[in-house]
Amino acid sequence: MPTKSKKSKSAGRFGSRYGKKVRARLVGVESKQRLKQKCPFCKKPGVKRLSKGIWECSKCSKKFASDTFYLEE
Ligand SMILES: [Zn+2]
Repeated sequence: MPTKSKKSKSAGRFGSRYGKKVRARLVGVESKQRLKQKCPFCKKPGVKRLSKGIWECSKCSKKFASDTFYLEE
């Protein structure tokens, strides 16, 4: 019986390419950057990453430049 293999999260789009370790590291960064981050202005979790280092808060609608992949506490 064929078993469906599970592609590893966001790195699944690469298939078997680029090596296991590299893909695992990418998942760590990407899963974090896609979460709603905590806003440094209104302290609510509503900040979304628009591009490299560009963030926008959905709660207070501020757009600002900060860390590249995810916001540190
Ligand atoms: Zn905010």
